Amino acid sequence: PSLSYRDILEQGLTRFPDKPALFFMGKTITFKDLDRMSARFAAHLAKCGYGVGDVAGIHMPNIPQYLIALAGVQRAGMAATGISMLLKPRELAHQLNDSGAKVLVTLDVFFEQALWEIRDQVPALEKVYYANVGDFMPFVKKSLGAALKKIPTGLIQPISGKTVEPILTILKEGDPTPPEVSVKPEDTCLIQYTGGTTGLPKGVVLTHRNIVANVEQQVRWSKFEPGKDVFCSGFPFFHMAGKMMGMAAMSTSSAQCLIPDPRNTKHIAGEIKAHKATVLVNVPTLYQMLLDEPAFKSLDFSNVRMCVSGAAPFSVDAIKRFEALVGKGKVIEVYGMTETSPLSTSNPHVSPKKIGSVGIPLSNTDIKIMDVETGTREMPFGEEGEICVSGPQVMAGYHNKPHETSHALREHDGKLWMHTGDVGRMDEDGYIYLVDRAKDMLIVGGYKVFSREVEEVLSNIPSVELCAIIGIPNPERPGSETVKAVVQLAVEYLERDKGQLKEEILAYCRENMSPYKVPKIVEFVDAIPLTAVGKVDKKALRPPKQ
Ligand code: ATP
Ligand code: MG
Repeated sequence: PSLSYRDILEQGLTRFPDKPALFFMGKTITFKDLDRMSARFAAHLAKCGYGVGDVAGIHMPNIPQYLIALAGVQRAGMAATGISMLLKPRELAHQLNDSGAKVLVTLDVFFEQALWEIRDQVPALEKVYYANVGDFMPFVKKSLGAALKKIPTGLIQPISGKTVEPILTILKEGDPTPPEVSVKPEDTCLIQYTGGTTGLPKGVVLTHRNIVANVEQQVRWSKFEPGKDVFCSGFPFFHMAGKMMGMAAMSTSSAQCLIPDPRNTKHIAGEIKAHKATVLVNVPTLYQMLLDEPAFKSLDFSNVRMCVSGAAPFSVDAIKRFEALVGKGKVIEVYGMTETSPLSTSNPHVSPKKIGSVGIPLSNTDIKIMDVETGTREMPFGEEGEICVSGPQVMAGYHNKPHETSHALREHDGKLWMHTGDVGRMDEDGYIYLVDRAKDMLIVGGYKVFSREVEEVLSNIPSVELCAIIGIPNPERPGSETVKAVVQLAVEYLERDKGQLKEEILAYCRENMSPYKVPKIVEFVDAIPLTAVGKVDKKALRPPKQ
């Protein structure tokens, strides 16, 4: 297709002007409002001289201003980079510099706390726009908690050489004529940073062609009809999964419930009910939290047609429990990564769906399982290897990282393949099963141990709420690791004797797995650390490298 995301966005914004686009804190923003406000921001950016090739950072929670700014940036022809709200000032400076952002859209409080500190370290940054958190108090204030201790009372201090202004004035009073810019499919749409689960986040260059392809693949797969669906997603917009849901919703004229704080399960349940959400999209940890939420459990799920789960493993047992509540067949497990815009595979909506599998490749997508060691031989059905993806949604490359790009994107069989670093296998029907990340695999006395397999067994034990399996270097056997289980206990078990619980866990493991996979060390922690999107943060659990 020769369309850019900008083209399909403009179609989506103008198709049904009076239909709701965003639900937020009891207010409704229609497509007409979203169209007009984003056009004003786009016109302003274009008037300042920004367009194709320029980058704007967006640093906000899931509030309306996020999507207004994102749509404005796209309509001006600029590329967007989503910035995690958990970044420390040093990391914020790194992302702004690495992406080359000239514009930043943020919140007044972040400005005060982070940007002020790094004002002399971001030379390329020219303009800062801020939304007032006060506009959405007290809800956002509560959800951001500690981050908001220092709310500026007076005017934002001007920083030398940069213009700082409130975005609200532009959205209310600016010129509403969207600029005319020509955006080509190969132009950069997003410089999107990876989740940072295994190391420092990498900037992924996604073109307009990538994003249009992935939107269309999902429209076809999930049967999105313009103006019909109501999305409710706990993924933050700065993450690729959240960004894609937001971008797909705007371009298919679907409504969305905005969730600024995904830990507030009661609020999520309230939104699903109030706006008759049809599509839920979350990480499995959030679905598990929702299972413990009385307001969620008592909902009528007849409007919900699918609960998409991705980004981290959802155990078969937990999927079954969730489906017992929402309806059989409604959990759709998908697999993707920032580098594939993000979706590569999905379970089908009609049978046959296979629980425990992440489904089959989306349209125009090919998957090969290659041997992990050399990456040159294709594995037979049923055998583990590295998952490689080819399709129109595969990134142009890593930003400023030619070495990583040539390692990840390799040509064979006349196509370009993304080597994902994920280990999986394919069954004879072409269904993909994720086994582990190559980086999370352990070597124990010469045997491969897949951390995920051990975690799946542990998660069947009632006392285990959440767990992570990591490898500890074995000093007695160089090159070999010791299996360590880090366990967060379910609340009902907190008062029980730890020694006895440990024995019960180990007894269950011995009964259900080969001896070399059984954890040698079991450590109980109050809370398993999670990354900004809610994935188990194994980095934080591993001993620091010597
Ligand atoms: P980084 O690349 O910076 O270490 P990350 O890989 O977590 O971080 P993302 O692009 O957000 O960054 O995540 C993609 C990864 O998430 C995939 O490579 C895969 O390991 C994991 N993943 C995606 N979908 C699923 C799923 N359905 N089940 C299990 N894991 C999944
Ligand atoms: Mg990754």
